[in-house]
Amino acid sequence: MTFARTYLDYNASVPLRAEARAATLAALDAAGNPSSVHAEGRTARGLVEAAREEVARLVNAKPSEVVFTSGASEANNWVMAAGWETICVSGIEHDSVREPARACGAKLVALAVSASGVADVAAIGKMAGTGRTLVCLMMANNETGVIQPVAEAAALAREQGLALHVDAVQAPGRIEVDFAALGADTLALSAHKLGGPRGVGALVIRDGVSLPAFVKGGGQERRRRGGTENVAGIAGFGAAAAAIVRDHDAALRMAKLRARLEDGVRQATPAAVIIGNDAARLANTSCIALPGKAAETLVIKLDLDGVAVSAGAACSSGKVGASHVLEAMGLPPEIVRSAIRVSLGAETREDDIAAFLAAWEKVAGSAAIAA
Ligand code: PLP
Repeated sequence: MTFARTYLDYNASVPLRAEARAATLAALDAAGNPSSVHAEGRTARGLVEAAREEVARLVNAKPSEVVFTSGASEANNWVMAAGWETICVSGIEHDSVREPARACGAKLVALAVSASGVADVAAIGKMAGTGRTLVCLMMANNETGVIQPVAEAAALAREQGLALHVDAVQAPGRIEVDFAALGADTLALSAHKLGGPRGVGALVIRDGVSLPAFVKGGGQERRRRGGTENVAGIAGFGAAAAAIVRDHDAALRMAKLRARLEDGVRQATPAAVIIGNDAARLANTSCIALPGKAAETLVIKLDLDGVAVSAGAACSSGKVGASHVLEAMGLPPEIVRSAIRVSLGAETREDDIAAFLAAWEKVAGSAAIAA
């Protein structure tokens, strides 16, 4: 007997979209190397270039600005490795920004974060633009969904003569990403966070910005990233990007469902705290703390009840530790320890919310307390 599962962990990975699956499978049969001049090579090249156009369209960039990578972690590592003297990192950045920033030998400056989870970008305006300085600010946080003032950060960085890198991994399909208008220097994307395959992503590099190759080798990606392209993964990425562009009202649907979910949580567990509730958030993300309960226990019990959510950032294998994001927000330990993340997607239906709420009532509601 199989049990129906309810998947509400879209910020960790979005299930492969049908369009992306079809494009990936079809591209697996393309025999050629995209760098080869023969017909087979040209077919593979065509798939890569078509996907580049779709990804560029998704974020309003030029196709020439899109460089395919093995994912957003590589894209973020690449930018950190570019020989900065100073890197200013917000306290809520993903580990794939924080760790290489720490390791690269640059002077680190922290950008403070409010209790609502918003980075204090005004501090960028006070940073002296001496030497090579990079500011890193994500577009929206993967744990809380809180949307960051990246446009303001970009304007301030420009005034001060600083470079700006934006990790936009959690944004596509949830909020608009307009690379041309934003004026950031670089922007990281990940295919599997938008319904494409895992293990492929992109770094969008503004025309004119020079970044030494991180993966050195052949002359692929116009000498910017060595290595034969992951043609099937890239084709799937392009198809997922195109599907998102077509699905105009996904964010609206998710916002309605999340409102229902959060109302239900408040009713079942009045002590629950919705983190980042007073800030602008992605429509799909709900970070819920229930003081007195351990997040890991909630996640395991919900899983046994058929519902997949995560505790804090579950990007790396089985990682459960205090969330640096919630700590950077200065939240008390009982909130940090009990916070789970529920994240919806374009395919989430009312039934999924009902299933979550039934399981939540059972594991965290009055029935659980009475038991
Ligand atoms: N940045 C953010 C905000 C993320 O949520 C993730 C998720 O893992 C990454 C970067 C890394 O992306 P990837 O899995 O493509 O390396």
